[in-house]
Amino acid sequence: MHYFHHTAPANRQSRRGFLCSMLHVALSGAGAVLFGASGGGSPVVRPGSGKREGVAPRGGGDAAGEHEPRDRGIEAAYMKLHGSGELQQRGERLWRMMESCELCPRRCRVNRLEGNEGFCRASSQLEISSFHPHFGEERPLVGSGGSGTVFFTNCGLRCVFCINWEISIGGEGEQRSIAALADMMLALQKRGCHNINVVTPTHYSPHIVLAIDIAARRGLRLPIVYNTCGWERIEIVRLLDGIVDIYLPDFKYADGAMAAKYSSGAESYPGVTGAAILEMHRQVGVAKPAADGLVHRGLMIRHLVMPNDVAGSKKVIDWIAADLPKESYVNIMSQYRPMYRAFDYPEISRRITGDEYKGVVEHARAAGLTNLDIQKYPW
Ligand code: SF4
Repeated sequence: MHYFHHTAPANRQSRRGFLCSMLHVALSGAGAVLFGASGGGSPVVRPGSGKREGVAPRGGGDAAGEHEPRDRGIEAAYMKLHGSGELQQRGERLWRMMESCELCPRRCRVNRLEGNEGFCRASSQLEISSFHPHFGEERPLVGSGGSGTVFFTNCGLRCVFCINWEISIGGEGEQRSIAALADMMLALQKRGCHNINVVTPTHYSPHIVLAIDIAARRGLRLPIVYNTCGWERIEIVRLLDGIVDIYLPDFKYADGAMAAKYSSGAESYPGVTGAAILEMHRQVGVAKPAADGLVHRGLMIRHLVMPNDVAGSKKVIDWIAADLPKESYVNIMSQYRPMYRAFDYPEISRRITGDEYKGVVEHARAAGLTNLDIQKYPW
């Protein structure tokens, strides 16, 4: 059910009133079934599989300590903005942007608030595929309790080799309210996760910020990991300043022609992503593990090595080495495998070779990068 397809037309209300009323419906989750927040059972909790409860009241009501984080003493960035009321204001500002959506570089300018879908296939109705503690993310995010991942449905980049294509392109997931997303965050904290890791968040950034505000009121204290394809408008990243503690962007391509070919015409990818990453670094700095080995704040870049140097890996590495501190965290990923429509492109229809991977690693070392996450060679 899309809440916004059949609502009263705006001409019966002021425009501001209309937007506010739409936001209220999304926040309250009217008609939605929430996830159970008990955190028990299977480590993978899919929408609809949890214990069913009523809508959590805004303004709190949880017993103190009910959702206590494991990593006490670390204050997430958003607590300051939450305390001043600015976190909610930022969420509402992002929300209003969906009236003529330019939340990502596609800049579709569709009115998502009226139920229209842009290139990403998202309306203003939040859709989520799953949430669970994830133990396969970068070690400084996983620790002993896992990274608390929430997988969002749909995507604005739509790569032909997407490993999560059923979710990002196929639309796998269920409609959820913002209050339900806040419940998920609290459930992940209660399970002992070390962070809240929002995967493919860009098109739902308004919902995420508003959910953080609700969850913070109810005891959320974990840092937010913004796990993005990297293709982000700098104006939107600036609105996340003081909200996100850990940016986890991909840097997929050095060449716009490659980005256009394999990521649905996203020719602007290298320049837009580079600018976004610089802004992310300005906000949170270099990712440095704390005494417990976990990263609680900083920039962590992922680069996926692709067959036949489609990604332009050495150029990506050179850009990082030249424009960011040498101790910047860079995960050089070896796990490419052809998925989805990759077999339509012979040059990317195989895994990478050991020599291809090692060549990129050696180049990164020669470029002076000192904080490389090198993966075990699968060969
Ligand atoms: S978030 Fe979706 S609707 Fe908005 S500009 Fe991007 S692709 Fe278009």
